[in-house]
Amino acid sequence: MSNGSKQNLFKMAEQQLERAFDAIGADANLRAILSQPKNEVIVHFPVQLTSGEVKMFKGYRIQHNNALGPFKGGMRYHHDVHLDEVKALATWMTWKCALAGIPYGGGKGGIKFSPREYSAEDLERITRRFTHALGDNIGPEWDIPAPDMGTNSQIMDWMMDTYANLKSTNNRQTMRAVVTGKSLICGGSQGRTAATGQGVVHCIEAWAERKGFDLDGARLAIQGYGNVGSNVARIMARKGALVVAVGDHTGYFMNQDGLNPAELSQWVQVHRGLNGYPKAEAISREQFFGVECDIMVPAALELQILEEEAKSLKCQMVIEAANGPVDLDGERVIQERGIDLIPDVLANSGGVIVSYYEWLQNKRSESWYKERVEEKLERRMRRIYDQTVMKAEELGVGMRTGAYAIALEKLKNVYGARGLWP
Ligand code: GLU
Repeated sequence: MSNGSKQNLFKMAEQQLERAFDAIGADANLRAILSQPKNEVIVHFPVQLTSGEVKMFKGYRIQHNNALGPFKGGMRYHHDVHLDEVKALATWMTWKCALAGIPYGGGKGGIKFSPREYSAEDLERITRRFTHALGDNIGPEWDIPAPDMGTNSQIMDWMMDTYANLKSTNNRQTMRAVVTGKSLICGGSQGRTAATGQGVVHCIEAWAERKGFDLDGARLAIQGYGNVGSNVARIMARKGALVVAVGDHTGYFMNQDGLNPAELSQWVQVHRGLNGYPKAEAISREQFFGVECDIMVPAALELQILEEEAKSLKCQMVIEAANGPVDLDGERVIQERGIDLIPDVLANSGGVIVSYYEWLQNKRSESWYKERVEEKLERRMRRIYDQTVMKAEELGVGMRTGAYAIALEKLKNVYGARGLWP
């Protein structure tokens, strides 16, 4: 999946931020505060695996900013997790939550290891030891983890259970809100699993309406067929769109007549990747990014569309379902070529928005119907999409800078009102 680039993700996040600061003319003090995360927690913890072997793991939790509410963001299990990556991802969560208008700051964390190589039992041990090592660096009013790449509701259930069991008996019930993205039975929300993909689709619809573009028959190329990519495929296919190309770390495939999203999901489940999918033509990664389509959906790792990939795109729009898939050069080329770009902090915010609904339900001991969650998500996504378009037009900038500008204004106002104590 990787293009071999060793670009520093945090530098990229800093440069995006600089561009936004320039656009809104922010003062030096705000720049200073927001340019570094507040806390960087790194833990090394031993786990006794089911084999009897004891292994050391390295875990991270980066807390970028909490001026607007508790730190919030996913936990990533991946062999490439590293400090500058989680710092960038935590920073993006701050802009994402501020833009979405939910009362959270930004955080992100994870463990550097490859979860595919471990059994469910070992994953449980690793997750519980990690949660124990983090201790009170997380908490329902302090820092609230959620799923990200390599993690899911089961991991969140174990995390919540471990955290709650470390608290006094009469406090345990209120601890469910320490983590979102849990399974329904453990206090998760209806609609949370599909929320990120669903939010991406709301953005695609909003874009199509503004353009007068008919989504019936629209051609999509999707990189990454995990939770986000597969849900985008499934929901878009229901609207009459065709998935003409897909790819993941195991291979890339094309079929201009359209691929069946449900069959792809089944294949991925059984084969742990797209590799060998029979009802399509196998293509290279280079061919994938040059495939004729209308909408390109990078829904995998960061740093996928750089200058070279951007030059070969044959689409009208790129929507960042993943975090940070397009680098600065890629973005410049995309803009020069007149291709629309919907940035990650807007496009994939459906996940954290429904995380917020889950947290509210936990705190209020409520459980909302799916329709209620879906309606609220759609209304909020549409609103922030329109606000971003308007801000970008007002400032004469791209949508990413427009989105950042909205977030930065909120942060500027909260620091203006609260000041720096003491
Ligand atoms: N990991 C997701 C993201 O990058 C969701 C975060 C959350 O729900 O807190 O936005």
